[in-house]
Amino acid sequence: MSNWETIIGLEIHAQLNTDSKIFCGCATRFGDEPNANTCPVCLGLPGALPVLNRRAIELGARAALSLGLHINPTSIFARKNYFYPDLPKGYQISQYDQPFSANGELEIMTAERDEAGHPLEWRPKKIRITRLHLEEDAGKNVHEGLPNVDRYSYIDLNRAGVPLAEIVTEPDFRSSWEAYDYVNHVRRSLQWVGASEADMEKGNLRCEANVSVRRVGDEKLGTKVELKNLNSVRFMQRAIEFEVARHIKTLESGGTLRQETRLWDDKATETRVMRSKEEAHDYRYFPEPDLAPLVVSDEFIQNVQSEMPELPEARRKRFMDQFALSFADASQLVSDRTLADYYESAAESSGNPRGAANWIRSEVLRELELRSVSADQSPVTASELASLIRLIDEGKISGKQAKDVLVEMFKSGKTAQAIVEEQGLVQLSDSGEIDALIDEVIAANPDQVANYRSGKEALIGFFVGQVIKASKGKANPKVVNERLRVKLLA
Ligand SMILES: [Zn+2]
Repeated sequence: MSNWETIIGLEIHAQLNTDSKIFCGCATRFGDEPNANTCPVCLGLPGALPVLNRRAIELGARAALSLGLHINPTSIFARKNYFYPDLPKGYQISQYDQPFSANGELEIMTAERDEAGHPLEWRPKKIRITRLHLEEDAGKNVHEGLPNVDRYSYIDLNRAGVPLAEIVTEPDFRSSWEAYDYVNHVRRSLQWVGASEADMEKGNLRCEANVSVRRVGDEKLGTKVELKNLNSVRFMQRAIEFEVARHIKTLESGGTLRQETRLWDDKATETRVMRSKEEAHDYRYFPEPDLAPLVVSDEFIQNVQSEMPELPEARRKRFMDQFALSFADASQLVSDRTLADYYESAAESSGNPRGAANWIRSEVLRELELRSVSADQSPVTASELASLIRLIDEGKISGKQAKDVLVEMFKSGKTAQAIVEEQGLVQLSDSGEIDALIDEVIAANPDQVANYRSGKEALIGFFVGQVIKASKGKANPKVVNERLRVKLLA
């Protein structure tokens, strides 16, 4: 397989997070009664005129800026003509030769994965983004869950006219994992700046992959296949892997590939043909006569920029500089914006950024995952976590006690201080009491004492563990360590 090179380009459709549609005032709410959110404009009735939603432009600009794209001062809406039952006008309003935004270069972090799916080495990779353009979504044909679906198809136009940003890349990906890491990067960026919910399960982020292979050293691109119906990032990655293997197998056995659109079937874990290129559309684009050219001023872009939060990559770098975090730690903490805010607040109010990172990455994330909530919905706020960290740092409770206290904080919603007082938790730091425990441990383990005294210093860990166990987890490990070294050599 190493004689072959994989070439992938991606198209993402992201629903912009507006309350109303792009060319009319109808709501964009998900899950409403079919056709409840429609009007003459999005039903495509004759004579109805589109009016551009300013908020869609602002969010489109946020999306473009978050991906490092250049916004064109003038862009043109165009009609993309085709017939389909969920498209009552007979055309979709999109953009064609003068898109909203173009010519971007995005740096992502990517890694190949081992058999178990664990990342190998993370490395930066530049992806060229050809364009980001604005368009309206089509409606939806419904073939399930309604009366007589064996005889009828139903049309729901609630989604018709919902604003989308279509983001198209150059064929710059060389593996399915690069594509996977890119889509996750884009999803996070769009969520981070509030441009889109970017939730693939709700269908407000959809992606398509163009996949081909060629022999290493060949200039010419191989026959490409378009993959659709990729309902999660993981499905997309699997579908690409399947296609690459299929292409190579076909070509190595002397077969030929057809240019076609294929769908991923996750149950069967394979792709199957949806349509061949012979049925491809000619969309006969022309400028939309009912909309003026979209002119975007520098001032508008500066305003959008000034309202945007610090972007994830910048924040990761700042966390590494300001809080001395590793790349891996900082990357995890900026994996979503609410988590990054939570961390920063806990780091500052505890005065222990390293400790805050450790607690969040292990205990707090586990508790949040158990409850399926994000950091901003955490029952334990960042400042309450910071209070807990201070109790440890001041030597009032041990790290082991703190783990139990945190679990209790999540369960009961009480503060760390209240739980510590209620349960009478105190860390044992009194050297007299610790000495008494050490004496017991020394008396009970004469062989290990002899070994330690003859030079096996690594045994100190064993003794610390025994003393802490004897104290039922209350003994201050620092004091135990100091006193043990004195008493073992006495
Ligand atoms: Zn409408």
